[in-house]
Amino acid sequence: MARLIDSGPGCPTPTPIRAKNAAEARGLAYTDEIKAKTDDLYPLVSDFITPMEWPAIAPLVAEINRLKVEKNAVILAHNYMTPDIFRLVGDFRGDSLQLAREAAAVEADIIVQAGVHFMAETSKILAPEKTVLIPSLEAGCSLAASITGADVRLIKQRYPDYPVVTYVNTTADVKAECHITCTSSNAAQVVEAIAKEWNSDTVILVPDQYLAKNVAAQTDIRIITWPGACEVHELFSADDVNQLREAHPGVVILAHPECPPDVLQAADFAGSTSALASYVQDNSPNKVVLLTECSMSDNVAAENPGVNFVRPCNLCPHMKRITLENILDCLIEMKHEVVIDEEMRVKAKAAIDAMLALPKTDKPLAFETGLAPREIEVISPA
Ligand code: SF4
Repeated sequence: MARLIDSGPGCPTPTPIRAKNAAEARGLAYTDEIKAKTDDLYPLVSDFITPMEWPAIAPLVAEINRLKVEKNAVILAHNYMTPDIFRLVGDFRGDSLQLAREAAAVEADIIVQAGVHFMAETSKILAPEKTVLIPSLEAGCSLAASITGADVRLIKQRYPDYPVVTYVNTTADVKAECHITCTSSNAAQVVEAIAKEWNSDTVILVPDQYLAKNVAAQTDIRIITWPGACEVHELFSADDVNQLREAHPGVVILAHPECPPDVLQAADFAGSTSALASYVQDNSPNKVVLLTECSMSDNVAAENPGVNFVRPCNLCPHMKRITLENILDCLIEMKHEVVIDEEMRVKAKAAIDAMLALPKTDKPLAFETGLAPREIEVISPA
């Protein structure tokens, strides 16, 4: 069950006392010079950070932005970052597919991944010549932790005739064992393409059982999956959707496809974080709820001031490991660098390249809502 439910910014953004101590500990202060450099940034986060808090945060922001220029670094900020990171220091923002494409294309010596560890690995896989840093080694992911490369090798032994698709929310060793990757923007497209290429009526899609079940409802391909789940999205339920509709008549409910199938069945629209953001941008609903991680609503709300957001708050503890303080530290100390064995990297890149070679769509693909869930086979780990 999601923690409920009402308007107003989701999670408190930074902790100002901690930020103040953090700035002071690094010899940073809110001087007239810092004030002049950051005054134009404050309106971007004024819904989340009070004027009293700003002097504690502005010196960290200014120093991060100065170091980026000095070191030719860029920050890739995932949609689930808090608004201080997303709006004030992120150079590129988006879902994991968008950030992976930016990592491959960007001209910079250093990439700081404001996201979780598998995202930083994906950047390193696609941009091996760049130094990729992750601000916190504790920024993991319940999906990535649910499966290993050894698990995939066993799956391939058990089902040698079927292609294996991995969601990008996995470690490099898992990607290296799979035939192709997918994201929540293109999962159904990837499943159908690989089934055609292999001339197979069955595809194995790991590790997210809910994404797999939601894809299964959209396609005639038989799907086999793995019992992984996102600890954030699995908490949403169809009961939440019903409660939201009762409490907020007319609200438009958008869901991420890592949610259980009954949530997508009850929602009005479903898709990746980019698809959800595009929906709000294109349709300007009067009142909307995003059934996904808390900060996503804050970030989309900041870009759509005319839309009322109802905000159920399920927070990803891993994403919240990334803070302005540890972004600054990783730039100062050049820690924690992501390193991947070259043979593994090349194999993992082949799986990502297979996905990137598919026709690019103008917009992220949506999942059809209202469909009855389909039962599918879930593999029991050995
Ligand atoms: S929101 Fe879910 S899938 Fe995304 S990083 Fe957190 S645990 Fe992983």
